[in-house]
Amino acid sequence: MIQTLKEPRIVEKMQFIDLQSQQERIRSLIDVAIKRVLDHGIYIMGPEVYELETQLARFCGVKHAITCANGTDALGLGLMAKNIGPGDAVFVPSFTFAATAEVVAWVGATPVFIDSLQDTYNMDPQSLEQGIKIAKKEGLTPAGIIPVDLFGQPADYEAIQAIADEYNLWVMADGAQSFGAAYKGRMVGNIGDMATTSFFPAKPLGCYGDGGAIFTNDDELASIIKSLRVHGQGVDKYDNVRIGMNGRLDTIQAAILIEKLKIFPEELTARQKTADTYNVGLRDIVHVPELIEGTTSAWAQYTIRLPVGADRAKLMGNLKEAGIPTMVYYVKPLHLQTAYRQYLTATGGSLPICEGLASEVVSLPMSGYVNDLQISVTLKAIKEWI
Ligand SMILES: *Cc1c(COP(=O)(O)O)cnc(C)c1O
Repeated sequence: MIQTLKEPRIVEKMQFIDLQSQQERIRSLIDVAIKRVLDHGIYIMGPEVYELETQLARFCGVKHAITCANGTDALGLGLMAKNIGPGDAVFVPSFTFAATAEVVAWVGATPVFIDSLQDTYNMDPQSLEQGIKIAKKEGLTPAGIIPVDLFGQPADYEAIQAIADEYNLWVMADGAQSFGAAYKGRMVGNIGDMATTSFFPAKPLGCYGDGGAIFTNDDELASIIKSLRVHGQGVDKYDNVRIGMNGRLDTIQAAILIEKLKIFPEELTARQKTADTYNVGLRDIVHVPELIEGTTSAWAQYTIRLPVGADRAKLMGNLKEAGIPTMVYYVKPLHLQTAYRQYLTATGGSLPICEGLASEVVSLPMSGYVNDLQISVTLKAIKEWI
């Protein structure tokens, strides 16, 4: 029952992503875990790093989980392991966080921006095929695809893999937002030639700093990535056999992640429950996020799409007044951003769906700790705005 809609404190305290409630819940375990690292003193590649990698691999049902410094490095390591460089085209959605395309430019290859699907916000397979044709026409070698599991829902990997097979491309799934989700019975991490994730604090499974991981079932790729992560070292650590990077995850962050992984399945259930309640309350008013058949989402974000022409700024203002923080992911698709305008798009010009999404979407508070009162206040404010 909704008794105290005007109860100010609970709503005032509402966080867009409630990391504070989570910390309160596990603080004593985290303190012990950090102390354990301080006691053994192995700050770099300590036992917790290897323990976490074992647990992550088991969680996703994948052969190799290799932790690294952040989700961007995870993507970069994947491209380096595949020897991607100048002349190669890598296909990425435009409606994503910059890191997905940034890493392609890092290695000197060309990102080709692909349009999105209106309902799932994920990469449009038809636009992907168009992009591959354009890249070839421009004299580039199509090399690989980085689909993004935007807001936590896996991309349509069946459709994408069929295209990858046809054109002989690898697939590296950017699961920075979707760790914990599944696609047709396979966990994120166990999809594509490689998959990556991020443990940035606000991601579904976050640490207390930067962190990331890359996953693969391919033994050879795994051993190359492990070498690249430590400056390209060979069997003899003073004979580097390739150009690598310093891409390691800190032992302290690994220790924190081990504690957080214990409560992660419960948090995923809570996120799903929040998404279900939002869905029921909003389905008739706005476009609610659709899950394609056979997928689950990690609900990194709960993102609605407003009717064309709706006053998004006013809605966000109303919600703010009611104590509800909201965000827009993403205000500007990558192909329109200053640093990325120079690259190709699937159409050779505009990407109409993702350009529309950028002005229509808004994300509501989401975490494993959103309470019923907070949801009611949010729904009420959105209904009043309509
Ligand atoms: C957060 C994010 C990344 C980068 O992760 P970091 O750990 O911040 O480097 C990459 N891709 C997507 C889609 C992301 O959301």
